[in-house]
Amino acid sequence: MAIPAKRNLLDEDQISTMIEWLASFGKTEAGGVTRLLYSPAWQEAQQALKHKMDETCLYTYFDSVGNLFGRLPGTEPNGKTILTGSHIDTVVEGGKYDGTYGIVASFLAVLRLFHTYGFPRKTIEVVSLCEEEGSRFPLTFWGSRSISGAYTLERVKEAKDEAGITFLEAMHQAGFDPKTYTPPIRQDVERFLEIHIEQGMILEKNHKQVGIVTHIVGQRRYTIELKGESNHAGTTPMQDRKDAVSTAAQLIAFLTDKAKEIDPLLVATVGKLNVKPNVSNVIAGEVEFSLDIRHHQEAVLDQFCREIFAEFKQVTLGLDMEVLISQWMDVKPIPMDQEMCELAREIAEAKNYRYQDIVSGAGHDSQVFGAMCPTSLLFVPSQNGISHSPKEFTSLEDLDAGIDLLTEVLYRLAY
Ligand SMILES: [Zn+2]
Repeated sequence: MAIPAKRNLLDEDQISTMIEWLASFGKTEAGGVTRLLYSPAWQEAQQALKHKMDETCLYTYFDSVGNLFGRLPGTEPNGKTILTGSHIDTVVEGGKYDGTYGIVASFLAVLRLFHTYGFPRKTIEVVSLCEEEGSRFPLTFWGSRSISGAYTLERVKEAKDEAGITFLEAMHQAGFDPKTYTPPIRQDVERFLEIHIEQGMILEKNHKQVGIVTHIVGQRRYTIELKGESNHAGTTPMQDRKDAVSTAAQLIAFLTDKAKEIDPLLVATVGKLNVKPNVSNVIAGEVEFSLDIRHHQEAVLDQFCREIFAEFKQVTLGLDMEVLISQWMDVKPIPMDQEMCELAREIAEAKNYRYQDIVSGAGHDSQVFGAMCPTSLLFVPSQNGISHSPKEFTSLEDLDAGIDLLTEVLYRLAY
């Protein structure tokens, strides 16, 4: 096999050049990035990345859904692969770092390892996952869930984007003909490693450079419907009312206080409220509100739901009102691999990086892989906690620290 000429070792310039270069595919006027699954910008980015990888020691290939892999073969023929990377797609008007940084970091880490130590014992593959955000079609984690086998083509057959283009048409246009589709399930993935921006303010607030993710939160989402009685705002005495708005206010205040009381890491959000008839001089007969609950322990989620829903029922019963609770999302919390967490802590400690353990409140490809194989997720800070915005920013120093840590973890696992 041809070993390419030695290239420059990783330096800060290389990191920012590569981040800017990838951000040029799908760049928006506001300075953000819009790179939706299978769009022209997405195709250009994946193809450009493939060419870039082809110039190095990596052997590249696409799977049938458009995940891009760069393979550095190991000397030990055990058929297992250490996979590292993140997602190439963005939200509409997203930033330069979300997903992209993880791909750049994995790529540069593997190059650095190859240039310093040659071929690894275990095969390493860098992956640029085709889709995570769910920004074009109403489904998320298409890339990683195709690899895990959770999703097949069957799952996306009916999906359409806002312009009415079907998922299968979009796939075909991007060069991935659904007719030649074979499920790209991987049985050989021994471990998965991802590095990502935090998308929150914890690391910055604590002056840390790196976060070692111990868990990705579980998420439950509900729609709560309250049915009371619409009536005259002037002639209905307070004690005779079945006011859906004031009852909703009472329940929301209760759940907010309860979330604070049960655990500091528990978060509960009511972000949407529909009032009927929504008229200023009429007592509302109906209210529907959303409820988003997240925590990294199933038992805490259970306890919280049990306590608030018991209260919801008791309050509405006392007022002779009706409450309907429908759950439409139940994502289990996923722990990251404890051994790999420990390894990352050990290395961060030895290299004097400022680090801390952290729980991820957002979803990541690592939760899909975490259910499939030992998985490690690392964070670098997001300035002001901003993400999914052209304002996304992480300092070069922190980006570099993250890549250095990832490189060392990969070295310990693969060499
Ligand atoms: Zn992301």
